Amino acid sequence: PARRRAAAKPADAANHAPRLTHPERVVYPDAGITKAEVAAYYQAMADWLLPEIVGRPVSIVRCPQGVERTCFFQKHHTAGLEAVVAVPLKEEGGRDAEYLVVRDLRGLMELVQFNALEFHPWGARAETPDQADRVVFDLDPGPDVPWSEVVAAARLVRERLEQVSLRSYLRTSGGKGLHVVVPLSPGCDWSLVKPFTQAFAESMAQMEPLKFVSTASKRYRKGKIFVDYLRNGRGATSVASFSLRVRAGAPVAMPLRWEELARLRSGAAFDIFSAPKRMRRLKRHPWHGIDAVRQNLDDVSRMLGLAK
Ligand code: ATP
Ligand code: MN
Ligand code: MN
Repeated sequence: PARRRAAAKPADAANHAPRLTHPERVVYPDAGITKAEVAAYYQAMADWLLPEIVGRPVSIVRCPQGVERTCFFQKHHTAGLEAVVAVPLKEEGGRDAEYLVVRDLRGLMELVQFNALEFHPWGARAETPDQADRVVFDLDPGPDVPWSEVVAAARLVRERLEQVSLRSYLRTSGGKGLHVVVPLSPGCDWSLVKPFTQAFAESMAQMEPLKFVSTASKRYRKGKIFVDYLRNGRGATSVASFSLRVRAGAPVAMPLRWEELARLRSGAAFDIFSAPKRMRRLKRHPWHGIDAVRQNLDDVSRMLGLAK
């Protein structure tokens, strides 16, 4: 039930990026990166980023005065947006709110013109907001966790998912940690996904209590990794692969092949400069084949006694 707000435009308008105001504005002062460079990044990476966000409700982080001033996390559609669709979805309180849904390059570039730097999609498509098609285990290292332990944690998540016949995919967050992503097709109700991911995180914490925590209140325990399963609920978001991050040096959330994990140095190993170079060199998505994966949580949830 997507409702287009924009009046019909001449056919060729669809191909034109909206005018970019303040191209010279410095967005990342530490690296001297301007709004024009941010726009050029998203234009160049659109073929990679768009499949991650198109058709999903997406939240954005906007920084109208650059990353060192106030930035805000925006979930809802606002006045002035013409190329981005407003999709009404039920809120937690039960009322409808209009969510942002990007349809195409024009929508993406309009959000960039609105100073969006980060893109955070739901793990569900806008037409089926109650059916998860992407699960994310977000590994959040507390202070003093050596990088080697974050790497080991990602491997352990992968192995334990394999034990229940679930294939998973790796990405850097562009920040401190790593995300392990599980595609679901056909999708699964959040009411199944949530207890599964919680049970999974809790079992890691029980197995290795000195290494992992699974409760949000203990998330930044010194020396421990929080297995953040809370990205997996209706309305929750995770950063999109290929999104920039609002952090020093303009890092990028980057999908990887598992074989690349051993050589990875940090969650912020890729940035606005190296990410486009890497993708030009690779030519195909590090998660190539993910769309053909057919798996969901029905069997494993029944096995664990989680199914309703
Ligand atoms: P890191 O590796 O540094 O943890 P991350 O992207 O995983 O990077 P987290 O803090 O672990 O960062 O996760 C934050 C997630 O919560 C984001 O991916 C985002 O989608 C979601 N989120 C929900 N509400 C907000 C908000 N108000 N501001 C920022 N993020 C939010
Ligand atoms: Mn995280
Ligand atoms: Mn987290």
